[in-house]
Amino acid sequence: MHDSFKDLLKISAESSDDFFRRLVEEMPGGFFIYRADGKEEVLRINKAALRIFGCENMEEFKRLTGGTFRGMVHPDDLERVENSISYQIANSVNNLDYVEYRIRQADGSTRWVTDYGRFAHLENVGDIYYVFISDDTERMKKRMSDLETINSELVKISARESQYRKAILYDAIFFFEIDLTRDRFITAITHTEDVHTFDMFDSVNTGEETKFSDFIDFSAKGQIDPDEYIRFFDRERLIRFCEEGQLEQSYECQASDNLGRRRLLQYVALLGKSADGKVSALIMAKDITSQDEKQKLLQMSLRQAQAANIAKTTFLSNMSHDVKTPLNAILGFADLIKLHIDDSAAIEEYTDKIKISGKQLLNILNEALEVTRMESGKAMLAETECHLIDLLAEVEKAVIPEMNAKSIRFNVDKSQITHFSVYMDVLRMKEMLCQLLDNAAKYNRNSGKVHLTVGEEVHSCGYGKYTFIVEDNGCGISDEFMERIFEPFSRESNTTKSGVPGSGLGLAVVKNLVDLMGGKITAESKVGEGSRFTVTLVLKILEKNIPAGREITLEGKRLLLAEDNAINCEIAEALLTEEGFTVETVGDGDQAVEAVRKAEAGYFDFVLMDIQMPRMNGYEATMAIRALKDRERANVPIIALSANTYAEDQKMSVQSGMDAHVSKPLDMTKLKETIKTVLERRSVQS
Ligand code: ADP
Repeated sequence: MHDSFKDLLKISAESSDDFFRRLVEEMPGGFFIYRADGKEEVLRINKAALRIFGCENMEEFKRLTGGTFRGMVHPDDLERVENSISYQIANSVNNLDYVEYRIRQADGSTRWVTDYGRFAHLENVGDIYYVFISDDTERMKKRMSDLETINSELVKISARESQYRKAILYDAIFFFEIDLTRDRFITAITHTEDVHTFDMFDSVNTGEETKFSDFIDFSAKGQIDPDEYIRFFDRERLIRFCEEGQLEQSYECQASDNLGRRRLLQYVALLGKSADGKVSALIMAKDITSQDEKQKLLQMSLRQAQAANIAKTTFLSNMSHDVKTPLNAILGFADLIKLHIDDSAAIEEYTDKIKISGKQLLNILNEALEVTRMESGKAMLAETECHLIDLLAEVEKAVIPEMNAKSIRFNVDKSQITHFSVYMDVLRMKEMLCQLLDNAAKYNRNSGKVHLTVGEEVHSCGYGKYTFIVEDNGCGISDEFMERIFEPFSRESNTTKSGVPGSGLGLAVVKNLVDLMGGKITAESKVGEGSRFTVTLVLKILEKNIPAGREITLEGKRLLLAEDNAINCEIAEALLTEEGFTVETVGDGDQAVEAVRKAEAGYFDFVLMDIQMPRMNGYEATMAIRALKDRERANVPIIALSANTYAEDQKMSVQSGMDAHVSKPLDMTKLKETIKTVLERRSVQS
């Protein structure tokens, strides 16, 4: 049995007062009494309480604390503790209080204690507090760490909440948080509004398991421009921006909602790095279609104001030279006419020249008006259903005379187009392409080359990204001039120097047209080697294919005539040339195959093939052409010219792969009709 307990039992038998004194002295819990006055002198303290303070005896305790309650409490906690005690006592029925505070031990270390006190009044002593005290450091430490965890959770929650608030304030239609470092979602996509959602999010599981990069790859499929979308959301790129302190990244793109309407979306990525080095992003998307429309309206009014300036100042100062040149010519030739009033040949020549100069003046004026009209924002798009083949045919027809005048080899590559029926402003498109092609011919040497290549790169959500590339191998453009190339009235060298007439307005018109159509234009060039203009447009694809060829034009079409009989060949060539065709001739089937194989794809619009020819007849030549490796060359339309009109002959023509059969001698009206039908049929098929 414990010695002190034995003592206690003995004492208790002698005097209950002594018993309790010893009991208190020896009990395992800390206990002390102090006066409830200003000094708070400690009247009694037991061993366990002394141990809590790391003191052996009362002397040591007094040295440490001054022997008062206020000396026991850590100075930083004292005010709080005293206030709490007096408040509790004042409000407690049983005069009880409970406080927690820090104390300092004899060796200087800090401990947490809990203190149950009671206020009492003793007759012979006065007002006192008696207190049970225990060392609760371990429990408090745990509680502290729990609190810290809770606190940091709270901080996170409040940070997230503030992000959400941002997203809502920002008017986001949806947003999500990404742990970019781990490539994971923190929160899945959240819609802040019940709006028509965009296709890309409908079928995606965006739970914790989904990798962000996988999600982006997947959702890119629903984008009009997936490459750009993937580039923006590239994880490493965003992390790099965050490292560089560029914490806000935004990107605008066109999307199509589930009703097929074109919308302008803005994505904003707010980047941040946590203490442990993880980079996260809050990504928000906003539908800024109407905002964009408003902005356009504002820009329009601004442009209207600026347009007056352009018209007045630039027009007058820059145009005077280009207007003066044809005007001087007109006046000069008018004088010459007067001088040669009796010489009809001279008069004819001069009036022709006056006409040319007059046309030039008109052109300059028209272009200037077009620029002013566009700059003033009056121009509006008139989008209609259209077939790209029709557009290209019209463009070709318009530019062929100029190409031919300089013997330029002009070719149109439409082989990359997969969707031909689109919505667009046909007139504007034609104007834009013709201007680029005119320049390609104008700033080219004789027998140069001009290519128009139409590409369709991506196709999604009912839209296609089309590129129209106009390339030439002409004089090229210097780097220095390139910077000003789209400015109105800017020309690399003036008419007098280069001998090429112009106003410097063509490309300004082109740029304005492309802007109006919501597209992009870029120019690349090397002096002496040539230039390339690339127009990129996003066009809405028509679901139903509209028939092309409503207005296929024959003028300027290039054909290969394969005819062995020299006289027949000469007559056919003359007739066809008269009709506006560009004709190239060969003397037999063998040469016909060679000519098609050697020419660039699409160079010949069609072949007129005689049947009876030496070495290789028309049927064999057709089969050889159809067997060429290059698909476009192999598919060139071929029309048989045959002296035989028997049904068998016609059948043979079809079997060998020809498109139609025309009988000799040539009836131009019939031949033209057949050519038109064949070309129309072909354009619908392509
Ligand atoms: P213009 O042809 O009436 O001068 P543009 O605006 O069409 O006006 O062209 C501006 C200038 O850009 C031209 O004067 C010429 O110097 C240069 N340029 C345009 N297209 C080409 C091209 N295909 N090759 C070389 N230079 C070009």
